[in-house]
Amino acid sequence: NQQVLTKQETIRLRKRHVGESCKLFFRADPLKIIRAEGQYMFDEEGRKYLDCINNVAHVGHCHPGVVKAACTQLALLNTNNRFLHDNLVLCARKLASLLPDPLSVCFFVNSGSEANDLALRLARVHTGNDDVITQDHAYHGHLSSLIDISPYKFRQFGLSAKKDWVHVAPCPDVYRGKYTADNYPNEHLGVKYAQDVQDLIEAMAKEGRKPCAFFAESLQSCGGQIIPPANYLRTVYQYVRAAGGVCVADEVQVGFGRVGTHWWAFQLQGDDIIPDIVTVGKPMGNGHPVAAVITTKEIAKSFQDTGVEYFNTYGGNPVSCAVANTVMEILEKENLREHALVVGNQLLEGLTGLKDKYPMIGDVRGVGLFVGVELVTCRRQKTPATSEAQHIITRLKQEQILVSSDGPDRNVLKFKPPMVFSKENVHQVITALENVLDELLSESQIKKLKVADDEEHIISENNNRS
Ligand code: PMP
Repeated sequence: NQQVLTKQETIRLRKRHVGESCKLFFRADPLKIIRAEGQYMFDEEGRKYLDCINNVAHVGHCHPGVVKAACTQLALLNTNNRFLHDNLVLCARKLASLLPDPLSVCFFVNSGSEANDLALRLARVHTGNDDVITQDHAYHGHLSSLIDISPYKFRQFGLSAKKDWVHVAPCPDVYRGKYTADNYPNEHLGVKYAQDVQDLIEAMAKEGRKPCAFFAESLQSCGGQIIPPANYLRTVYQYVRAAGGVCVADEVQVGFGRVGTHWWAFQLQGDDIIPDIVTVGKPMGNGHPVAAVITTKEIAKSFQDTGVEYFNTYGGNPVSCAVANTVMEILEKENLREHALVVGNQLLEGLTGLKDKYPMIGDVRGVGLFVGVELVTCRRQKTPATSEAQHIITRLKQEQILVSSDGPDRNVLKFKPPMVFSKENVHQVITALENVLDELLSESQIKKLKVADDEEHIISENNNRS
């Protein structure tokens, strides 16, 4: 029995000794998960849940290969990276081989936040500039430096929370954003969104400011599963580089083959799209804390030329690198990237089928196993169906399917399951969602909703606004 405490005791101790700001999923009735396998999680009573939330358990929860690699290395040696070790250099070589030239120099860290904080330092040192261009609704991590460039977070502190070195470009959301196919039917949306970045650069120049970096997730996740339009990154990168900045691709959530066709989501915008700095994390360790920054020789040289050494006690330790190496190996051996493409398309197809039947589904979008379903109460006005989304999540949990929501209005159902998600899982999700949407069509149900969902607040992955 993996339980030391009863669920009630766990809740009681958590309330007493754990910071209240650390929020749980399904707050009104949190889950106590005691083991997991593949795409399934099991609670203390042995109930089995289909996990559509955990993109971190990339190759499947407790993949035996990953478990073995970690245990074997832990029994042999774990130390900081001031000693030569094969695992670290092999990991660096592998990451470099998966990324386009000239991205070839790695720094190992322990979390996505650390990776992005280091990326920010590299960009500042290399360019000599301070300012950052970020996207609205972006989330890049929990460190102070990253809250500053994460409108998803700092907007919660009020408008004055934006620092003057931070410049917020509109989120390139073609469904609900500033430019959509509805309001600009004959225009090139990617170029239009990029033009806003250029406008920011020009406004900055008037104040004597220059960007050190354009910081963006290749597909915005917390922003609501956003897929930028074609030519967005290509045009933005040209503008940012012309202004003396570097381009940072945050692949912490969406990297390592989740999009199916490519290893990295920025590659969806074209083979010629090459960031100057890429940050990776989450799926890299399948649950073990390991992350990295990969950059060019030139940028690494600028950092070195400061004369300040970079040391990170746990970053790149032999166990972390053994795990990361094994994750990349499994992705290739088990063809999980190709699998994500096939199953992701089945999921998209099923959800698009539901969209034809249920007006509450305003938009279905996705690539590979990165999928979003945006719910609205009125398709024409795109009114966010926030409480309905929370209700659906609660009902799906009762059906033993775990889904989260996100986006500024928390009305986007997010699907980012482990990459071993199967065709049968797709069927299970579509059938359950269809049943719940049928229930919702009944008028009385809609009225009852409001009351129930005031009690059952479910939080999105990084959000504590509820
Ligand atoms: N970048 C993105 C896009 C993320 O989604 C997250 C975490 N959700 C981070 C960075 C921060 O990663 P971590 O929580 O590992 O510090």
